[in-house]
Amino acid sequence: MTALHLEAGGFAAAATGRRKQSKKADVCLAVTLADSGAPTEHGFGEVGRKERLGASSMAEQVLRTIGPVVLLGPPGAGKGTQSKRITEHYHIPQVSTGDLLREHVKQQTPLGVDVQATLAKGELVPDHLVCDIVAWRLRQPDAERGFILDGFPRTQKQAAWLDAFLKFEFFESGKWAAWLPIVVRIQVDYNKLLLRITGRRTCPVDGTIYNIYSNPPRVDEICDNDGAKLVIRDDDRDEVIRERLDTYERQTKPVAEYYEKLGRVVMVDGDQPVDEVTEQILKQIDGRACGVASGNEGKGS
Ligand code: ADP
Ligand code: ADP
Repeated sequence: MTALHLEAGGFAAAATGRRKQSKKADVCLAVTLADSGAPTEHGFGEVGRKERLGASSMAEQVLRTIGPVVLLGPPGAGKGTQSKRITEHYHIPQVSTGDLLREHVKQQTPLGVDVQATLAKGELVPDHLVCDIVAWRLRQPDAERGFILDGFPRTQKQAAWLDAFLKFEFFESGKWAAWLPIVVRIQVDYNKLLLRITGRRTCPVDGTIYNIYSNPPRVDEICDNDGAKLVIRDDDRDEVIRERLDTYERQTKPVAEYYEKLGRVVMVDGDQPVDEVTEQILKQIDGRACGVASGNEGKGS
């Protein structure tokens, strides 16, 4: 625990274990698991794609420990789109800090009220607040076999905190044989990013992501799955988009470089169609899943 404090730069709430979460982390509990990307009573995501997996391959995926997967890339790179597909394939949750923060804003929790203006400006929320949310989310039972971090870490402090947290919670606790994340860096041409962001539409009910240019719904502005009216994210406005892209260059690119120096990054060409990008990512994860610690074998973690 002390090591975690030191290595992580001391984000207290996350480091003090399951029983002593901060008030802010407690607030997070109000966010429903369904909203935060956890499996629902209906299973994991779209039935259609699930059916494409053969029964045996689905059973295999459910038993495997995948470990932590980090998706890195600028706004509009396709992190959310790909996270949902990886989630459906391996049956591990998507942990999107952007979605979690937006949910806090929507519910007007004390944290949501605090961070609302920051999100609207396209700036980053302070590290300790985001780390608290992530710590809470990764301790949920559905994250025991692994998870996809979408939009986290975004600063070097968050990356250092994550390493320490994963080591302490998953490796030293004896759950996993390894803890270092697979870092998938999705690269996309800058002009394409602008089109992707301005064309993005999201279903407020099931979270499906559309694009009016490359992946429109069957009926204009209406979700194919539940008929809800699609929404444009508040921060997908022209004046905020550039700020978000600049913030990525300044604060998140160094995170990619940090992981690159450690030899943990796999590059993915995000300019390709969605299916091809998914295929590239799954191939990388398949080669590197982290496995259970030997003492835990056969426990069906
Ligand atoms: P991020 O989470 O990285 O901001 P999203 O997954 O929300 O990105 O994708 C941004 C937009 O780009 C969405 O409208 C999505 O439909 C579209 N998109 C995602 N991946 C691709 C792709 N490979 N080709 C074309 N459009 C894509
Ligand atoms: P995108 O999909 O466009 O990359 P996200 O949905 O991940 O954007 O994030 C939306 C906003 O939420 C960010 O602009 C930032 O204000 C906040 N946010 C999300 N993740 C983090 C994080 N890890 N650290 C700080 N702020 C974050």
